[in-house]
Amino acid sequence: MNKPKIVILGAGYGGMMATVRLTKELSADEADITLVNKHNYHYQTTWLHEAAAGTIHHDRTRMLIKNVINTNRVHFVQDTVRSIDHKNNKVILKNGEIDYDYLVIALGFESNTFGIKGLDEHAFAIRSVNTARKIREHIEYRFASYNSDPDAKDSDLTIVVGGAGLSGVEFLGELVDRIPELCREYDVDPKKVRIVDVEGMPFVLPPFDRTLAEYAQKYLESKGVEFKLNTFIKEATPEGVKVQLKGSEELEEIKAGTVVWTGGVKASHIPEDSGFETNRGKIQVTPDLRSPEDDHVFAIGDVAVVFPPDAERPYPPTAQIAIQEAENLAKNFKHILHGEPTEPFVYKPKGTVASLGEKEAIGVVFDHKLTGKPAAAMKKVIDDRYLLMLGGVGLVLKKGKLKFL
Ligand code: FAD
Repeated sequence: MNKPKIVILGAGYGGMMATVRLTKELSADEADITLVNKHNYHYQTTWLHEAAAGTIHHDRTRMLIKNVINTNRVHFVQDTVRSIDHKNNKVILKNGEIDYDYLVIALGFESNTFGIKGLDEHAFAIRSVNTARKIREHIEYRFASYNSDPDAKDSDLTIVVGGAGLSGVEFLGELVDRIPELCREYDVDPKKVRIVDVEGMPFVLPPFDRTLAEYAQKYLESKGVEFKLNTFIKEATPEGVKVQLKGSEELEEIKAGTVVWTGGVKASHIPEDSGFETNRGKIQVTPDLRSPEDDHVFAIGDVAVVFPPDAERPYPPTAQIAIQEAENLAKNFKHILHGEPTEPFVYKPKGTVASLGEKEAIGVVFDHKLTGKPAAAMKKVIDDRYLLMLGGVGLVLKKGKLKFL
């Protein structure tokens, strides 16, 4: 093989970090690098709940890819991946095809509505800049219409959130910050607004320490959020949702002007539809993050599944893992091109923090439990650390959060 062509699909956490790190690990003579993404910008998914609630502008969550990658070293293709023909080392795009010697699949996640009736049609999902912007505008429109539209009803001001996992709880935290602003702006009595969270589990934030999760629930309840735990959304309709308490036969209708589903994600459909063997839609990668069927194909982030040694459950899909996988992958490309053995991926958990709006949060960082303002500050440190790793101090100054503390 002459100079190998490495093609990276997806410019999310995994794809962007892989691209940046590869240009540092490999010299221009060692490989050609191509990055393919459907938009010309990279966005931080972990900030999208803020854009969706309207507590930050969506432009704060995104940055032009050409401003972050070294465009002298990386060929950027803005296009949508349709499928991967891995027998012929080819990626099929909406507007053409690309050949590769090595492929990195980093296409991320899609919303998973588990076939619940009406959710695809009548609920929003926090998935991308476009969906976050749509949710913000929809909620604002409901408030703007309340006093101007003669047919407006109180239930138009009800927001139902499906799911109380990380993204659902973080979205609720932003909503409780945002609703008082909307009420002031549109002369709406705050007592008329309902925020209802529907969660099938008996508690919120399942993977978190219980005392921290209870802190989060109590804080959100103190701000007016109603939790319906042990309760399942059975159907979404143009008027709201129909829910069912576990063990009950009866359906309860919650009329709502906005329904946001945060209850599940699945891997991009592209690997499975392209014929890769998958485990619940994800490529179960080898210790050095390759497809077991094709050692020229790597998968990182939410399209990959990695099991900790001797564990029955895989690591959860998080930005933190996607970033660490990208770092491992870049190092391994250097080893591969130098004919050296690769290093297995070893996840080093640094903890997780869930924000509850601007000034509240909960989390565990390096085994220390945090709540309140220290946790909220730590969340901003985590967000800014990513920007620093990706684009250096300049990017932190442009997009970072700590200056807003
Ligand atoms: P993504 O970041 O999803 O990137 C995939 C990229 O591929 C995107 O740029 C997309 O546009 C592009 N793409 C997709 N399909 C195509 C196609 N067909 N053609 C071309 N381009 C395509 N994780 C944490 O660690 N901490 C958190 O606090 C946290 N909070 C979250 C809050 C919310 C609201 C959500 C939704 C998720 C949160 N997560 C969090 C999870 C985290 O965002 C994901 O695990 C992470 O984004 C996965 O990174 P990735 O690189 O695999 O994919």
